[in-house]
Amino acid sequence: MTIIQDKERIDEALELIWVLGEEGHNELARFSISSDDPDTDSLIETLNKKALARLENDQIFFTENGRKQAKGLIRRQRLAERLFTDVFEMPVEAVVDDACKMEHILSEELTESVCTFLGHPQTCPHGKPIPRGECCKKFKIEITPVVTRLCDFEVGATGKITFIVPSDSSRISKLNSLGITAGSVIKFIQKTPSCVLQIDETTVALDPEIAREIHVKKIIQ
Ligand SMILES: [Zn+2]
Ligand SMILES: [Zn+2]
Repeated sequence: MTIIQDKERIDEALELIWVLGEEGHNELARFSISSDDPDTDSLIETLNKKALARLENDQIFFTENGRKQAKGLIRRQRLAERLFTDVFEMPVEAVVDDACKMEHILSEELTESVCTFLGHPQTCPHGKPIPRGECCKKFKIEITPVVTRLCDFEVGATGKITFIVPSDSSRISKLNSLGITAGSVIKFIQKTPSCVLQIDETTVALDPEIAREIHVKKIIQ
């Protein structure tokens, strides 16, 4: 077994212990049944040896270090799920596998950026709690995300377009020709019945459906 595989095995095991703990189950038997690992005995031995988990009366518990590692993994996984569903509008069922890959590669710094970008969400799309990070502690209440959809933007505010997620790719060039492209600075004039925004001297009206696909960051003046 290579070192990389070993690391992933351990990561998966730590996540499983976390999830079982959330449900109030620390039984070793439950862990063995729920794990996809071909050899849970050796896996548990490894966790023990690396001082990540300890056994007590047929129950499995984290050590302090194990809990810390698991918390980071779960946090990255659930934030990735939020990113994929909220920003890229992927269906919840489709995001789990990709989120699992992200949790192994996201750096601490990038995780904080993603969390801040999403507005320090408290739960994943499945409704499970996202462990808090350093960035979240700075905010006592849930703040509005840094980037919002144009349709949810504040009327009268000025913002910069950060990205566009078109449901129809031909839309991008049409929006482009109107000057609506990543980096453009806009002023939001009206929300209903259509979304009206101003770019330079031009006023553009958009269907609310299209305004949902444009993401803006408010410019504080
Ligand atoms: Zn989830
Ligand atoms: Zn945060």
